[in-house]
Amino acid sequence: MAIKNILKIGNPILRQRSEEVPLNEIRSKEIKDLVKDMFDSMKAAGGIGLAAPQIGVLKRVIIVGYEPTDRYPDIKFDKEHEGVKYRVMINPEIEYLTEETIGFWEGCLSVPGMRGYVERPKKIRLKFYDMEEELHDEIIEGFEAIVVQHEYDHLDGILYVDRLKDTKLFGFDEEFEKIKQYPVVEV
Ligand code: ZN
Repeated sequence: MAIKNILKIGNPILRQRSEEVPLNEIRSKEIKDLVKDMFDSMKAAGGIGLAAPQIGVLKRVIIVGYEPTDRYPDIKFDKEHEGVKYRVMINPEIEYLTEETIGFWEGCLSVPGMRGYVERPKKIRLKFYDMEEELHDEIIEGFEAIVVQHEYDHLDGILYVDRLKDTKLFGFDEEFEKIKQYPVVEV
Protein backbone atom coordinates (compact mmCIF):
# COMPACT_ATOMS: atom_id res chain seq x y z
CA MET A 1 0.00 0.00 0.00
CA ALA A 2 1.47 3.27 -1.08
CA ILE A 3 0.36 6.74 -1.97
CA LYS A 4 2.09 7.58 -5.23
CA ASN A 5 2.96 10.92 -6.66
CA ILE A 6 0.36 11.92 -9.25
CA LEU A 7 1.97 13.18 -12.45
CA LYS A 8 0.96 16.62 -13.64
CA ILE A 9 0.27 17.97 -17.09
CA GLY A 10 3.57 18.66 -18.78
CA ASN A 11 4.97 15.27 -17.83
CA PRO A 12 5.41 13.39 -21.14
CA ILE A 13 4.25 10.08 -19.62
CA LEU A 14 0.71 11.50 -19.48
CA ARG A 15 0.83 11.89 -23.26
CA GLN A 16 1.74 8.30 -24.08
CA ARG A 17 -0.52 5.42 -25.00
CA SER A 18 -0.79 2.78 -22.29
CA GLU A 19 -0.40 -0.90 -23.07
CA GLU A 20 -3.08 -3.57 -22.75
CA VAL A 21 -2.69 -5.89 -19.77
CA PRO A 22 -2.18 -9.45 -21.11
CA LEU A 23 -5.07 -11.64 -19.92
CA ASN A 24 -2.78 -13.99 -18.05
CA GLU A 25 -1.43 -11.06 -16.02
CA ILE A 26 -4.77 -9.67 -14.82
CA ARG A 27 -4.67 -11.73 -11.65
CA SER A 28 -0.98 -11.13 -11.02
CA LYS A 29 0.44 -9.59 -7.87
CA GLU A 30 1.81 -6.77 -10.01
CA ILE A 31 -1.70 -5.71 -11.06
CA LYS A 32 -3.10 -6.19 -7.54
CA ASP A 33 -0.36 -3.95 -6.15
CA LEU A 34 -0.90 -1.40 -8.91
CA VAL A 35 -4.65 -1.21 -8.21
CA LYS A 36 -4.02 -0.85 -4.49
CA ASP A 37 -1.60 1.99 -5.08
CA MET A 38 -4.10 3.63 -7.42
CA PHE A 39 -6.88 3.52 -4.82
CA ASP A 40 -4.56 4.80 -2.09
CA SER A 41 -3.38 7.63 -4.31
CA MET A 42 -6.86 8.55 -5.55
CA LYS A 43 -8.36 8.62 -2.08
CA ALA A 44 -5.46 10.63 -0.66
CA ALA A 45 -5.95 13.19 -3.41
CA GLY A 46 -9.76 13.25 -3.11
CA GLY A 47 -10.37 12.14 -6.68
CA ILE A 48 -13.24 10.17 -8.20
CA GLY A 49 -11.24 8.38 -10.84
CA LEU A 50 -7.65 7.60 -11.68
CA ALA A 51 -5.80 6.01 -14.56
CA ALA A 52 -2.57 4.03 -14.14
CA PRO A 53 -0.47 6.43 -16.27
CA GLN A 54 -1.25 9.18 -13.76
CA ILE A 55 1.01 7.37 -11.32
CA GLY A 56 3.53 6.63 -14.04
CA VAL A 57 2.43 3.12 -15.04
CA LEU A 58 1.60 2.80 -18.74
CA LYS A 59 -0.97 0.02 -18.43
CA ARG A 60 -4.63 0.13 -19.46
CA VAL A 61 -6.09 0.12 -15.96
CA ILE A 62 -8.53 2.69 -14.59
CA ILE A 63 -10.42 2.97 -11.35
CA VAL A 64 -13.55 4.97 -10.67
CA GLY A 65 -15.33 5.45 -7.41
CA TYR A 66 -17.32 8.27 -6.02
CA GLU A 67 -19.62 9.58 -3.44
CA PRO A 68 -20.62 13.18 -2.85
CA THR A 69 -17.32 14.91 -2.04
CA ASP A 70 -16.13 18.44 -1.54
CA ARG A 71 -14.68 18.38 -5.01
CA TYR A 72 -18.05 17.61 -6.55
CA PRO A 73 -20.66 18.93 -4.12
CA ASP A 74 -23.27 19.67 -6.74
CA ILE A 75 -23.52 16.28 -8.30
CA LYS A 76 -26.80 14.61 -7.63
CA PHE A 77 -26.59 10.88 -7.31
CA ASP A 78 -29.45 8.69 -8.32
CA LYS A 79 -30.46 5.85 -6.03
CA GLU A 80 -28.45 3.21 -7.83
CA HIS A 81 -25.26 5.24 -7.70
CA GLU A 82 -25.67 6.66 -4.26
CA GLY A 83 -22.74 6.13 -1.97
CA VAL A 84 -19.60 4.35 -2.95
CA LYS A 85 -19.34 2.31 -6.08
CA TYR A 86 -15.66 1.69 -6.57
CA ARG A 87 -14.66 -0.29 -9.60
CA VAL A 88 -11.55 -1.43 -11.37
CA MET A 89 -11.58 -1.58 -15.16
CA ILE A 90 -8.82 -3.38 -17.01
CA ASN A 91 -8.42 -3.01 -20.79
CA PRO A 92 -11.62 -0.94 -21.07
CA GLU A 93 -13.21 -0.40 -24.48
CA ILE A 94 -15.79 2.24 -25.24
CA GLU A 95 -18.41 2.45 -27.96
CA TYR A 96 -20.43 5.65 -28.27
CA LEU A 97 -24.14 4.95 -28.40
CA THR A 98 -25.45 8.45 -29.03
CA GLU A 99 -24.40 11.75 -30.52
CA GLU A 100 -26.24 13.45 -27.72
CA THR A 101 -23.75 15.04 -25.33
CA ILE A 102 -23.77 16.32 -21.79
CA GLY A 103 -21.43 18.88 -20.35
CA PHE A 104 -19.64 19.01 -17.03
CA TRP A 105 -17.07 21.22 -15.40
CA GLU A 106 -14.35 18.62 -15.26
CA GLY A 107 -11.30 18.59 -13.09
CA CYS A 108 -8.30 16.28 -13.09
CA LEU A 109 -5.77 15.33 -10.44
CA SER A 110 -3.11 15.85 -13.11
CA VAL A 111 -4.32 19.42 -13.72
CA PRO A 112 -4.68 20.49 -10.08
CA GLY A 113 -6.68 23.52 -9.05
CA MET A 114 -8.35 23.95 -12.41
CA ARG A 115 -11.65 23.22 -14.08
CA GLY A 116 -12.89 23.27 -17.60
CA TYR A 117 -16.16 22.70 -19.37
CA VAL A 118 -16.23 19.59 -21.53
CA GLU A 119 -19.04 17.92 -23.44
CA ARG A 120 -19.01 14.20 -24.04
CA PRO A 121 -21.39 11.57 -25.40
CA LYS A 122 -24.09 10.84 -22.87
CA LYS A 123 -24.39 7.12 -23.31
CA ILE A 124 -21.71 4.51 -23.92
CA ARG A 125 -21.26 0.80 -24.16
CA LEU A 126 -18.40 -0.22 -21.95
CA LYS A 127 -16.44 -3.46 -21.97
CA PHE A 128 -13.71 -4.21 -19.48
CA TYR A 129 -12.15 -6.95 -17.39
CA ASP A 130 -12.39 -6.88 -13.65
CA MET A 131 -9.67 -8.17 -11.35
CA GLU A 132 -11.11 -11.69 -11.45
CA GLU A 133 -10.56 -11.73 -15.21
CA GLU A 134 -14.29 -11.56 -15.79
CA LEU A 135 -15.43 -9.65 -18.88
CA HIS A 136 -18.11 -7.02 -18.31
CA ASP A 137 -20.24 -5.58 -21.08
CA GLU A 138 -22.62 -2.87 -20.01
CA ILE A 139 -24.33 0.32 -21.00
CA ILE A 140 -23.78 3.33 -18.80
CA GLU A 141 -24.87 6.93 -19.03
CA GLY A 142 -24.83 10.26 -17.30
CA PHE A 143 -22.14 11.21 -14.83
CA GLU A 144 -20.68 7.71 -14.56
CA ALA A 145 -20.23 7.61 -18.34
CA ILE A 146 -18.46 10.97 -18.19
CA VAL A 147 -16.06 9.82 -15.47
CA VAL A 148 -15.23 6.63 -17.37
CA GLN A 149 -14.61 8.55 -20.63
CA HIS A 150 -12.32 10.99 -18.81
CA GLU A 151 -10.28 8.15 -17.32
CA TYR A 152 -10.28 6.17 -20.55
CA ASP A 153 -8.81 9.19 -22.36
CA HIS A 154 -5.80 9.06 -20.04
CA LEU A 155 -4.97 5.62 -21.47
CA ASP A 156 -4.57 7.21 -24.89
CA GLY A 157 -2.57 10.18 -23.63
CA ILE A 158 -5.53 12.56 -23.84
CA LEU A 159 -6.32 15.10 -21.11
CA TYR A 160 -9.63 16.90 -20.66
CA VAL A 161 -7.99 20.19 -21.60
CA ASP A 162 -7.69 18.77 -25.13
CA ARG A 163 -11.47 18.55 -25.23
CA LEU A 164 -12.42 21.96 -23.85
CA LYS A 165 -15.48 23.27 -25.59
CA ASP A 166 -14.10 26.78 -25.38
CA THR A 167 -10.85 27.88 -23.72
CA LYS A 168 -12.80 30.72 -22.09
CA LEU A 169 -14.55 28.00 -20.11
CA PHE A 170 -11.39 27.00 -18.29
CA GLY A 171 -9.72 28.43 -15.23
CA PHE A 172 -8.63 28.16 -11.65
CA ASP A 173 -11.12 26.90 -9.09
CA GLU A 174 -10.20 29.69 -6.71
CA GLU A 175 -11.12 32.32 -9.29
CA PHE A 176 -14.47 30.68 -9.97
CA GLU A 177 -15.06 30.53 -6.24
CA LYS A 178 -14.36 34.25 -5.92
CA ILE A 179 -17.12 35.07 -8.37
CA LYS A 180 -19.31 32.38 -6.77
CA GLN A 181 -20.19 30.78 -10.06
CA TYR A 182 -18.76 29.12 -13.08
CA PRO A 183 -18.94 31.07 -16.30
CA VAL A 184 -22.23 30.65 -18.05
CA VAL A 185 -22.07 28.09 -20.80
CA GLU A 186 -23.79 29.14 -23.99
CA VAL A 187 -25.26 26.21 -25.79
ZN1 ZN B 1 -7.84 13.03 -15.17
